[in-house]
Amino acid sequence: MTEYKSYAECNYNKALELLRELGKIPAPSHCEDKRAEFCRDFLKSLGADNAYIDNAKNVIYEINCESSNDITIFLAHTDTVFPDTEPYTMTEDEEKIYCPGIGDDTASVVVLLMLAKYYTENRINPKNGVMFVMNSCEEGLGNLFGIKTLMESYKSRIGRVISFDACIGTIYNKCVGSHRYKVTVQTEGGHSFGKFGNKNAIAELSSVINEIYKINVPQKEGTKTTYNVGNIVGGTSINTIAQEAEMLCEYRSDDRECLEIMQKKFFDIFDGARKDDVKIEVSLIGERPCAGEVDEKLLCELTEKCQTVMREFRSDVSLKSASTDCNIPMSVGVPAVTIGVYTGDGEHTREEFIIKESIKEGIEIALKTAHSILEI
Ligand SMILES: [Zn+2]
Repeated sequence: MTEYKSYAECNYNKALELLRELGKIPAPSHCEDKRAEFCRDFLKSLGADNAYIDNAKNVIYEINCESSNDITIFLAHTDTVFPDTEPYTMTEDEEKIYCPGIGDDTASVVVLLMLAKYYTENRINPKNGVMFVMNSCEEGLGNLFGIKTLMESYKSRIGRVISFDACIGTIYNKCVGSHRYKVTVQTEGGHSFGKFGNKNAIAELSSVINEIYKINVPQKEGTKTTYNVGNIVGGTSINTIAQEAEMLCEYRSDDRECLEIMQKKFFDIFDGARKDDVKIEVSLIGERPCAGEVDEKLLCELTEKCQTVMREFRSDVSLKSASTDCNIPMSVGVPAVTIGVYTGDGEHTREEFIIKESIKEGIEIALKTAHSILEI
């Protein structure tokens, strides 16, 4: 096991080098091409000749998976929340690297590449197969397209999934499902003076929002349910009664039943607001499922293995719920957990940073976790 520590020490500079290169490459969801190529080329340079990019822009590297029906997947996502198409600005001091997306999830991708490097260099062949995946489309309206495609391609051959997508000390073993909508209201509108009294789309949409904010979320023991209206646009000008207004809204829950209750409450509000002269169009723009029928014992075992390793690095390891790539395997009954492999802060902001030294710990955590799960 001290071998893992020295591997992390020896590969620290290499990891930082990768982080500096990969971290600058812009990668909005659905546009991860350059990052995917970078990861595939790095894997190939190690001798991973079979590494390839699938049609969802996932980079896939299999070891011993051909005839396995119990494959373990380690993954980290390549996309970021930023729409930029120009390289991100990166700055660095003694202790930290600052760059949008540097922690979430670039640092995890680098740790994953270091894990794959170890397995390749040491020619480790886990009995039931292991797959390293740098996947696309985890963030926002990427809608988990990468992991969905992966699960679809390998179907029942996947035994478990471990995603690197958090800070050290954190384990997500419950998933938060969500439904996201674009709601468009259209009505008659008109001149603000001449047609005063006509229906106004902004006012109609505001009543819908008011109704949403009166919702009492389900209070089921041990679960959490939330909702949010995150964005509104609409209207033509200050002296026009608005003909159209639009909002983006969502609800989330870590419980399937509560998510269904929220769906009903939202649709009752939308239906209630429709009138002959008020048209309301609702389109589903995001759907992340909650966990389905996951074998509790297997999920517990997997969580415990991750927890045992994490406790060597942090005394307080928290188990939490989140919306991550793990939602997809969990929704089809495959045990999946997300674990942290870097330390940093400011995820989803342009001020995001990571603590460089934490990458060493991250590599060690990844190696020890894989060792424990793959029983090598
Ligand atoms: Zn992430």
